[in-house]
Amino acid sequence: MKYNTKNYDYLIVGAGPYGSIFAYEAAKRGKRVLLIEKRDHIAGNMYTHKEDGINVHDYGAHIFHTDNKEVWDYVNQFTEFNGYINQVVANYKGQLYNLPFNMNTFYQMWGVKTPAEAAAKIEEQKKAVGISGAPQNLEEQAISLIGTDIYTKLIKGYTEKQWGRKATELPAFIIRRLPVRYTFDNNYFNHRYQGVPVDGYTSIFEKLLASDLIDVVTGVDFLADKETYLKEFPRIVYTGMIDGFFDYKYGELEYRSVRFENESFDSDNQQGNAVINYTDAETPFTRVMEWRHFDQKADAGRTILTKEYPQDWDRTKEAYYPVNDEKNSELFKKYRKEANGLKNVIFGGRLGNYQYYDMDQVFGAALKVVEKEFDK
Ligand SMILES: Cc1cc2nc3c(=O)[nH]c(=O)nc-3n(C[C@H](O)[C@H](O)[C@H](O)COP(=O)(O)OP(=O)(O)OC[C@H]3O[C@@H](n4cnc5c(N)ncnc54)[C@H](O)[C@@H]3O)c2cc1C
Repeated sequence: MKYNTKNYDYLIVGAGPYGSIFAYEAAKRGKRVLLIEKRDHIAGNMYTHKEDGINVHDYGAHIFHTDNKEVWDYVNQFTEFNGYINQVVANYKGQLYNLPFNMNTFYQMWGVKTPAEAAAKIEEQKKAVGISGAPQNLEEQAISLIGTDIYTKLIKGYTEKQWGRKATELPAFIIRRLPVRYTFDNNYFNHRYQGVPVDGYTSIFEKLLASDLIDVVTGVDFLADKETYLKEFPRIVYTGMIDGFFDYKYGELEYRSVRFENESFDSDNQQGNAVINYTDAETPFTRVMEWRHFDQKADAGRTILTKEYPQDWDRTKEAYYPVNDEKNSELFKKYRKEANGLKNVIFGGRLGNYQYYDMDQVFGAALKVVEKEFDK
């Protein structure tokens, strides 16, 4: 089989933001690009589709938030953002709390009304547990930062579901700090720019990949014919799993996966908020999204909700969150070293770098590699 029939300059593996931005920038500079994607659609995990006039995010809620003006200006070339501000509500056994931890949460938890009262309450709780020395696990770390009530009701169950392990068996470093806000401010993020595209995310990718110099083929797995691609293409950008690229020769990197369950209702409003986190251990899902509340102009009378269930990962499932513990970080270093030896392949994105990245970080990383590749 011959693939480089059009004398492409680049083969790009993966139509997520990393691969698509690279393709766009390469085409802008007159390069010919073949982009292959193993799913049946473009846009990677940012993919959204429209249903009942509502943009549904197929791979979990995606809110663009950044302090990076260059990235914000860049993405705004391809879409208009609405003014959505993420304000998450937590449901702990039927009690509702605002997130992130702020004066509203402290009032709901303890009835305290001033920052000084809230700070005193947190200090009192931290002291009462009397953890001395360095925290040995995530539970000790969280309690030493925020006290028992918030840990028990808002952190423990959610974290254990997310990671599939007891908080006492999780390393302390997962929680380095817990942002605490002594203002009545429910904005989940601290960043200056925030929003969701008015037309959904997929339209950004349609524009990024519109050039005649870019051919896009979906439903094709690079790893099924890796050697031929490597022989035929002068330069490859690979955004798939780095261990998969090397046939898992040092062993498998671990991930957590997620399963999504969608449900539609004849209603304008089921849960009254875009995101509700279920923070107890018993509820099997971690969050429920109601898409029309992501500040969308949705059709009247229909609403769509998605439940997010964390699950163990294996090769038959989507790899979402890398488990960056010591064991996996050591393993990744071995693959990284191999990757550095391949001078005509650029490894990028969250799977190529085995790193959880927010979208703005992936945009930033793609723009940086473009600069290195073309403008050096
Ligand atoms: C549940 C969830 C919620 C998130 N929410 C947010 C949020 O609110 N805000 C935010 O900023 N970020 C969020 N993110 C992160 C965001 O999804 C990522 O930053 C972004 O998608 C990473 O882009 P990427 O190009 O590296 O990878 P992806 O978007 O994953 O794209 C990689 C593409 O490569 C394809 N591919 C892989 N291997 C092969 C192969 N062998 N052959 C062909 N194609 C291949 C994949 O199918 C995929 O389409 C969230 C992530 C998850 C999992």
